[in-house]
Amino acid sequence: MCDYEEFIWTCQHSDFRLKSHCHRARNNPGHICNYVKRLRHCWDQTRACDSCEENERQRREAETHAMAAWYASNPGHR
Ligand SMILES: [Zn+2]
Ligand SMILES: [Zn+2]
Repeated sequence: MCDYEEFIWTCQHSDFRLKSHCHRARNNPGHICNYVKRLRHCWDQTRACDSCEENERQRREAETHAMAAWYASNPGHR
């Protein structure tokens, strides 16, 4: 059983990361292990996962561009 930890992001996504290989995986050249994964820790994160953060960043950027375009086409309303 290899040890895993789980990261739970604020967007409710979660990531599994390998913490340490068990004996069997360590002795296998490809670190292959057929045993069940053992979850050692659950970490509650204080932010969204990378892909959600990236989506949010792009959404905000698109909004900024939309606002800039709006200002450009409405010079009197600045
Ligand atoms: Zn294992
Ligand atoms: Zn996410």
